[in-house]
Amino acid sequence: MKIAIIGGGLAGLSLSILLGRQGFEVCLFEAGDYPRHKVCGEYISNESKPFVEALGFPFEKYNVPAIKHFRLTHYLGYKAQTTLAKGGFGISRYALDSELYQIALQEGVSVFTQTRAQSVEKQGDKIILQTADNQIFEVDLVVGAYGRVSNFQHNTAQNAKAQPFIGVKYHIEADLPADYIEIHTFRGGYCGISQIETGKFCLCYLTQNKYLKDHKGDLNAFEQNILAENPFLKRHLAQPKVMEGVTTSQFYFGIKPQNEPHILPLGDAAGFIPPITGNGMSLAFRASAELYKLILDYNTHKSYETLQKAHQNYIQKYLNHRITQGVFLQNLLFRENRLFQTLMMKSFQYVPFALQMMTRKAVGKDIETPKAPK
Ligand SMILES: Cc1cc2nc3c(=O)[nH]c(=O)nc-3n(C[C@H](O)[C@H](O)[C@H](O)COP(=O)(O)OP(=O)(O)OC[C@H]3O[C@@H](n4cnc5c(N)ncnc54)[C@H](O)[C@@H]3O)c2cc1C
Repeated sequence: MKIAIIGGGLAGLSLSILLGRQGFEVCLFEAGDYPRHKVCGEYISNESKPFVEALGFPFEKYNVPAIKHFRLTHYLGYKAQTTLAKGGFGISRYALDSELYQIALQEGVSVFTQTRAQSVEKQGDKIILQTADNQIFEVDLVVGAYGRVSNFQHNTAQNAKAQPFIGVKYHIEADLPADYIEIHTFRGGYCGISQIETGKFCLCYLTQNKYLKDHKGDLNAFEQNILAENPFLKRHLAQPKVMEGVTTSQFYFGIKPQNEPHILPLGDAAGFIPPITGNGMSLAFRASAELYKLILDYNTHKSYETLQKAHQNYIQKYLNHRITQGVFLQNLLFRENRLFQTLMMKSFQYVPFALQMMTRKAVGKDIETPKAPK
């Protein structure tokens, strides 16, 4: 069976590795190249650790910090902290994506970098995929792991409803213990900081556009005026940045309506969870593990309808539930009521267990590691 995967982020790469290892003919199309920086908080929940190990990520090559504690600070001057129930680890997307890309190549996946998939059409029993540079591929299945923003979902209703947010990431020097992740709120957004494998720290924030527009898009002025209102964050902003900032826009928090009947959506392409949870990467891995099992079953029984139905079931039940939890947590931080924010932060400060309960809402059970190929 020949399978095409559109998008070589974490969802696409991990599925390609599993399928390649199982002996399927897999071609993966990635519009960009590796290695590359990507807007992401670079904190991965431990629910993914056994799965990432099973993919073959060479942990021994990197000094990956284990993150066990969580601190939440507020621009009104409050801070609270707790131990994370499951914890996580810090790794840059620069290292993670490129290592998975190398593993995919080793598993026999044909990876076409700098190649944008343009269209997918059904012709008889086959599916025809055409790339932007007019290469044609005839395949049996197509998986759409093209992330949050793609030419494939350009005109769907949800893009019209895209929420006016912008995401920004830097790597910085910081004076913070390696086993801590901090989230700092500011007016209209929040910023995460945690260590990655280089010993530097990933600083990544999400903000509503309107605040940035007031600063005519000048990130530096915006950070000094708005982010630095949070005294705990101000300290980090004064530290040297060790990479140019990368940005992303067009956010829709929720399950995405699908307009491509012959594409199985995967990862952010199926639905996007607010970054506050630090769980989008784990959901991308989990979706791959789930779809992998369904594709193995499809290879035996050949019913596309069953495959599609089971895949939609995962999206509408499990993924939707996780995203709803994430939206709830994000909305808590976005409520602009001063009294509410004060009461919330004070209760977290005096009852750290309440904060821990909140963080538990963001995580799931460990991802099942795929069975070794027969
Ligand atoms: C501000 C922010 C902070 C975040 N912080 C965290 C965090 O700390 N922890 C966490 O777990 N998650 C975090 N996330 C979420 C996480 O980054 C995503 O959930 C994860 O990257 C999803 O992986 P994916 O493979 O679905 O998509 P992506 O990683 O986005 O990959 C999609 C790929 O598809 C390619 N592509 C698109 N269209 C085409 C096409 N037509 N043809 C070929 N290729 C195409 C793109 O180039 C891209 O490489 C954050 C996200 C944001 C925005």
